[in-house]
Amino acid sequence: MMAGTRTLNADLHSHSTASDGVLSPAQLAARAHAQGVELYALTDHDELDGIAPAREMAHSLGMCFVSGVEVSVTWASETIHVLGLGVNECDHALTQGLASTRRGRDQRAREMASELARAGVPGAYEGARKYAGNPDLISRTHFARYIVELGVCADIPRVFDRFLVEGKPGYVPHRWAKLADALTWIRGAGGVAVLAHPGRYGLDEASLWELVSEFRDGGGEAIEVVCGSHTAAQADRFAGWARRFGFKASRGSDFHAPGEGRADLGTLPPLPSDLVPVWEAWA
Ligand code: AMP
Ligand code: MN
Ligand code: MN
Ligand code: MN
Repeated sequence: MMAGTRTLNADLHSHSTASDGVLSPAQLAARAHAQGVELYALTDHDELDGIAPAREMAHSLGMCFVSGVEVSVTWASETIHVLGLGVNECDHALTQGLASTRRGRDQRAREMASELARAGVPGAYEGARKYAGNPDLISRTHFARYIVELGVCADIPRVFDRFLVEGKPGYVPHRWAKLADALTWIRGAGGVAVLAHPGRYGLDEASLWELVSEFRDGGGEAIEVVCGSHTAAQADRFAGWARRFGFKASRGSDFHAPGEGRADLGTLPPLPSDLVPVWEAWA
C-alpha cells in the first residue's frame, strides 16, 4: 500500500438530489472538495443518475472520484443497505436491477401518505413529492422533511421516531432487492460490495453474524467501519468484525444535507491503522 493511503481523506458514502440528499451531485462533489475530501464517492439510494455530473465536478476540481450506489435490500424481513463502489454506471444488469428496486416506491409513498393522513398528517404524498429531486425516488426522508415543515415535529430524527419506523403509523413495510441479487449486480458491474452501517440494523448478534456470513459468501468484500451512523464504540466493534471476516474497511459520512445533524463530508476519524482500506485500489 502506498504510504498515506490509509489516512487519505476518503468519504465513500453520500447522497444527492438523485435520492434523498438536498445538494445536486455537482454541488455535493464541490462541498466534498471544500471539506478536504481527497477521494470521494456518491452513493445514492438505488440510483446512478448523479454519477456523471458528480464525476465531472470532482475531476474539474482535481479530486479522485469513485462511482457508487447504495442498494436497498430485504434480508430476513429487515431492510439492510449494500454499497456498490467502483461500479460501471452503464452496466445493464445493474441499471435494470436498480430500476426494479425503485419501482415500488411510488405505491409505498401513497400508502404511507394514507396512513399518515389517518394519524393526523394531511397532504403527505404531495408534500414529500415536493422535496423529491427524483420523481422516481420518494423516500422516508422526503416525508420527514415535509413533516418538519408542517411543524408537527421539531426535527427529522423525531419524525422517524414518531411516524416512520416499524410499529409507527407512517411505516409501510416494503420488499426491496434480495441480498444475492444486489451482490450479483454490483460484482457484475465491476464493483466492490460494502455492507453499509452494520451497527444500525435491528438484528441480534447471531442474526447479524448470519447476515455478514451470507454477505461474504455471496461475494461481499468490505464493511463500513467508520461511518456517520456509528458511534466510536460501534466503529471499534466492526473493526473487530472486519478482522475476523477478512473484510476490507470503508469510511463514509452518509451525508444528506447541511444542518440535518449527521457528520459532514470528510470529517470522520480515520480507519484503525491495521485495517485494509477498501479504497486501496483507487487511491
Ligand atoms: P427509505 O429508503 O425510503 O426507507 O428511507 C431510508 C432513509 O431514511 C435512510 O437512507 C436515511 O436517510 C433515512 N433514515 C432512516 N432512519 C432514520 C432515522 N432514524 N433518522 C433520520 N433519518 C433516517
Ligand atoms: Mn438516505
Ligand atoms: Mn443507509
Ligand atoms: Mn446512505
